[in-house]
Amino acid sequence: MSAIDGLPPLRDVIATHGLSARKALGQNFLLDLNLTAKIARVAGDLSGADVLEIGPGPGGLTRGLLAEGARRVVAIEKDARCLPALAEIAEAYPGRLIVLNDDALAVDWEANLTPPRKIVANLPYNVGTELLVRWLTPKRWPPPWESLTLMFQREVADRIVAQPGGKAYGRLAVLAQWRCEVRIAMGLPPEAFTPPPKVHSAVVHLDALPAPRFEADAAILSRVVKAAFAQRRKMLRAALKGQAPDIEDRLIAAGLKPTDRAEQVPIEGFCALARVMAKP
Ligand code: SAM
Repeated sequence: MSAIDGLPPLRDVIATHGLSARKALGQNFLLDLNLTAKIARVAGDLSGADVLEIGPGPGGLTRGLLAEGARRVVAIEKDARCLPALAEIAEAYPGRLIVLNDDALAVDWEANLTPPRKIVANLPYNVGTELLVRWLTPKRWPPPWESLTLMFQREVADRIVAQPGGKAYGRLAVLAQWRCEVRIAMGLPPEAFTPPPKVHSAVVHLDALPAPRFEADAAILSRVVKAAFAQRRKMLRAALKGQAPDIEDRLIAAGLKPTDRAEQVPIEGFCALARVMAKP
């Protein structure tokens, strides 16, 4: 029996179901249930919320979320080997865990959860950034979720909370902080995982703001910011040359200096540029 529920310890679950970690699926498992319960608590009160979890694996974080009182967890797992272990958890928490054996990049998850919705995941590193960008860039805001509580490599976490002027500041910082309150909630050393990854990790918590900080179209902002940081050492007028023939005039109209570099531009400046780029 484990510390947080009546189910077997995760080491036994992994041995029983033969869940040797597969690198191609980004499988670094959390086996300490006190730690997974602590991560679940970062997401706040879960008792009135449906939680989307991506990549439950053997179910360590899933069990943390359920033990912390999540109303319902919908978990999307690509690796069918994990299904029997997850079925045992579903049995222990009747009606509160739904497992979808699918690719998180392909599923329409929204319809499967009732609001308010929170997303909590120890993400597979190979799809983590792509999922985050999708969650941050829907056309309409507020989004279908209230908050995101996500494990990333420490370096990616630092990029999400970065301020202008440094190397970590880029597309992720702009897109995340434009529409969310963001913070690093917890750092984790490689030994917290089995097998241990080569890098340190961190849990980032993002609360959706009721409205974006500055007006801008998400698709245009995303495109402009991506282009600006793709050549971050170049001046904006050169980095954004391909975006419009009159880019220098547009930069000036947005209140930016064409000779500035992307790293120096605050979120407000990129939003102003996105608004100017939306004009014919
Ligand atoms: N949540 C578990 C934990 O904390 O121990 C496992 C986390 S492990 C870092 C990532 C999990 O995501 C693995 O179980 C892996 O099989 C799954 N996964 C990888 N790619 C996926 C995808 N595209 N869609 C859904 N799950 C995926």
